[in-house]
Amino acid sequence: VPASSHRGHVRPAALVSRLYQPSNLRDVGQDSRLQAEMTCKSQRLMQQAGLIHPSSPGCYFYLPVTVRSMEKLVRLIDQEMQGIGGQKLDMPSLCSAELWKTSERWDLMGKELLRLKDRHGLDYCLGPTHEEAVTTLVAHQATLSYRQLPLLLYQITRKFRDEPKPKFGLLRGREFYMKDMYSFDVSEEAAHQTYESVCQAYHRLFTRLGLRCVQVQADTGNIGGKLSHEFQLPAEIGEDRLLVCGNCSFSANVETISSDTTHCPQCSTGTLVESKGIEVGHTFYLGKKYSSIFNATFSNAQNKSSIAEMGCFGLGVTRILAAAIEVLSTEEGIHWPGLIAPYQVCVVPPKKGSKVDEAALQAEQLVHTLGETLPHLRGEVVLDDRTQMTIGKRLKDASRLGYPYVIVVGQGALEETPRYEVICQQTGETVFLSKDGLLGLL
Ligand code: ATP
Ligand code: MG
Ligand code: MG
Ligand code: MG
Repeated sequence: VPASSHRGHVRPAALVSRLYQPSNLRDVGQDSRLQAEMTCKSQRLMQQAGLIHPSSPGCYFYLPVTVRSMEKLVRLIDQEMQGIGGQKLDMPSLCSAELWKTSERWDLMGKELLRLKDRHGLDYCLGPTHEEAVTTLVAHQATLSYRQLPLLLYQITRKFRDEPKPKFGLLRGREFYMKDMYSFDVSEEAAHQTYESVCQAYHRLFTRLGLRCVQVQADTGNIGGKLSHEFQLPAEIGEDRLLVCGNCSFSANVETISSDTTHCPQCSTGTLVESKGIEVGHTFYLGKKYSSIFNATFSNAQNKSSIAEMGCFGLGVTRILAAAIEVLSTEEGIHWPGLIAPYQVCVVPPKKGSKVDEAALQAEQLVHTLGETLPHLRGEVVLDDRTQMTIGKRLKDASRLGYPYVIVVGQGALEETPRYEVICQQTGETVFLSKDGLLGLL
């Protein structure tokens, strides 16, 4: 049954001809500021495949295919954060200067803070992070009891930073998505436990994504606090320099080490090996820094008011997306972490007029069979209906976009026991499978 005739009661298959994924490498055109950004693999691949479109330096349109992938990533992050007790909220991006002046970060942040005035002449900034906001929120609750702690609040929202050099596409934007979680605990010990459980959740997330991630000691920057780690994806284009001991567990961002020594400060026998990384996450133990400024208190077991111990925990959502593409892909095409691939399967029927129009019909049926028999593939299969193009051309597009599985429905599908050609991106293999074999593989 043709996909189109199902409209109305069965969800029609996604047709490649209808997907809005304008390839826009050339659109950067004369804009030298945008051209300067065109310097890394993930950005080039993402623009080539029509995943992002440049707007102004450090700002992008996230096109539909990217949004699909982002939504999957957000779901994974939600699972991990809620798995350790995180509660999701959403805070205003427009932040009153008052709060930032109270914490003294209005001046400390310098030009990175995007500032604006409202019609009454009042100062605001567009939130680059939300320690001030969340701490005043919690401080407003006069009745917070120790029984309600730890309290873990997080959001996944756009953050704004006027980066001096926005570059590398989504890796360093001026407007980007971050997951930021804030914890409130009864004691320093409890805060350290929370800190540890967030770090473990981060490791689980990167393991599920199939990304190798290194946790290193880090600088606390202008967020303040005493204990801090970065989660780094090893990559040549990474802007952070990491030192890892060959002998013990020591690993640190170079920024934290005063003299540039090659000897490990922890075991003193090991040699430090330098590598580069992309910072995808950052955890901070804040102590009472913000809670004492904004008076975020709770009533303790003795019914006395006590100042909460805090931590804050960032993940660069759009940066993770681009960094994953950067480290997993080849120069020719995107390789996604399987769980966040925008679509799982692309079905390619033969070229029009190649005397196998019957195969084209089979391909449409296959798309429906897959969605109906394998629930996890519902909405995950696209049909490359651009049958005026050769199979070869469409396969090239498919490998650029990076479907984990591409199924070619050709002559073999018309044989008595139909066979399908399946290209598995992860193994790089092409296999010929019967329909049952196919259902078993997917
Ligand atoms: P960087 O050192 O790369 O500038 P940062 O240390 O300033 O990052 P944090 O304040 O620690 O960033 O923010 C938490 C997370 O948000 C970072 O670990 C990173 O993954 C992400 N992030 C920060 N800045 C950007 C940006 N300009 N574009 C995309 N993601 C970003
Ligand atoms: Mg920064
Ligand atoms: Mg950093
Ligand atoms: Mg950081």
